[in-house]
Amino acid sequence: MTPTGLPMDMTTTAKRRVLVSGASISGPALAYWLHRSGFAVTVVETAGALRDGGYPIDVRGTATEVARRMGILPQLQDTHIDLRRCTFLNADGSEVVSLTPSAVAGGAEGHDLEVRRGDLAAILYAMVRDDVEFLFGDSIDTLDQSGQGVDVTFRSGQRRTFDLVVGADGMHSHTRESLFGPEARFHHYLGYCFAIFTMPNTFGLSREVMMWNTPGKAAALYAAGDNDNDEVHAFLTFHQPQPPFDALRNPDAQRDLVATTFAGAGWEVPGMVNAIRDADDLFFDTAGQIRMPHWSNGRVALVGDAAYAPSFLTGQGSSLALVGAYMLANALATNRDHTAAFAAYERDVREFVAMNQALVDNGAATLFPTTARALEQRNTMLRDLVTMPSTTARPAHSALALPEFAGHRRGSRDRATTGGPCRRRGLRGPGPSGRR
Ligand SMILES: Cc1cc2nc3c(=O)[nH]c(=O)nc-3n(C[C@H](O)[C@H](O)[C@H](O)COP(=O)(O)OP(=O)(O)OC[C@H]3O[C@@H](n4cnc5c(N)ncnc54)[C@H](O)[C@@H]3O)c2cc1C
Repeated sequence: MTPTGLPMDMTTTAKRRVLVSGASISGPALAYWLHRSGFAVTVVETAGALRDGGYPIDVRGTATEVARRMGILPQLQDTHIDLRRCTFLNADGSEVVSLTPSAVAGGAEGHDLEVRRGDLAAILYAMVRDDVEFLFGDSIDTLDQSGQGVDVTFRSGQRRTFDLVVGADGMHSHTRESLFGPEARFHHYLGYCFAIFTMPNTFGLSREVMMWNTPGKAAALYAAGDNDNDEVHAFLTFHQPQPPFDALRNPDAQRDLVATTFAGAGWEVPGMVNAIRDADDLFFDTAGQIRMPHWSNGRVALVGDAAYAPSFLTGQGSSLALVGAYMLANALATNRDHTAAFAAYERDVREFVAMNQALVDNGAATLFPTTARALEQRNTMLRDLVTMPSTTARPAHSALALPEFAGHRRGSRDRATTGGPCRRRGLRGPGPSGRR
């Protein structure tokens, strides 16, 4: 260490250049920590601008601590959705039970947060946009590691060389495919498809979730705001033995598949199926996990869903993305040698990922039963929750003890100490809402 307390290489060598592919959750979070460690960071995002939309997401356990260290906890608390009620419905729309979110537990009371995905993405982007180069509307075409760095050709035709490249480009990562091979090798389908979109809140819902189920099908309306005229997040999920590969990249085919699957359904489902036709923010995907034996290849590594998507059934996608970004940046700040850094990242994060991915085997899908018997059992369990105390947070959410961050640059402001105290909020659980 130097007398300034900085690792020696940071004071004596040129900035290392890192290209991050993807500007959603893991990409900007990684960019923040890498910039803070003295890297020159470029983020390339295929969309023309930061992408809004998606269902509200949870930030829990270890990820809450990452948010605190970034200094964004107060903003997340301000955008936290304080749900009042979760109501479960039968096939005909009659009520099974109405619960406080705290009864449908799985989070740490007063600690975990639930925010709109777009709000989290915007908060992360705002943290780095002045310090990091963003290339919107472009993407990596080819990667060549044969030289001293990674020679990148972009779809725009631009060519540049970086010391390192990180794929933060989601479950269907192009970076992963070009380095490790087809997605089918790593994607473990969990038997569900889901469609998420917004529609007008003509239901008078306010800070609540209504969830309708029949065996193998669920529909939810999630009103995140107070305003009756606001939008609601609509969510339709269904059991499908094989993934509908043809529909995955074709929004019209997705709409048709949803319409066919939910034909004849009760409650507000026909209106939801109609609304999906007008939705300009449809997000359709399979519930699946990415499981890989390694998360790096040479000078290229993966982070977030690209490396270890846990599926919406766990509610942990964004939390793993935030924690993974922190740990990867910390490993790179600690180890000048990228091979050692990537090995450390994998060694330190893999068990945390495995525990969170294992939540799907430990009941994370019980809100979406596929048989009449399982649905009745679930309803009985939900009714029992009315009188039972709230369950406690799942150990997997907090299973990783974050190391102190190694990469503080001279003069960098410790946002964690300026972020204000952690205000306590209501319990956030996995919820009946099919959120990640
Ligand atoms: C608009 C949107 C809505 C979402 N809604 C939901 C939801 O409702 N439920 C759910 O379970 N999960 C949803 N997700 C996924 C969720 O955000 C992730 O599970 C989690 O937050 C991990 O984030 P990530 O940054 O690793 O990956 P993601 O959030 O998937 O982000 C990947 C980013 O990479 C970009 N990208 C993709 N390909 C390329 C490429 N070739 N080059 C450059 N950039 C590329 C994407 O546009 C995106 O911005 C959504 C993601 C997006 C982008």
